[in-house]
Amino acid sequence: MPRATDRPGEGTYKCTNCGQEMTIEKESDQLPPCPSCGNNTFNAA
Ligand SMILES: [Zn+2]
Repeated sequence: MPRATDRPGEGTYKCTNCGQEMTIEKESDQLPPCPSCGNNTFNAA
């Protein structure tokens, strides 16, 4: 499962804690901590 600071590639990732969805648009973008709750683990949505 992708974690904050990973570069998981383009796609939508969902916070495992609060369900906030975030979109990564570039292969080189880092997944940030959840902006809503600060959680660091995500599921590919
Ligand atoms: Zn969250």
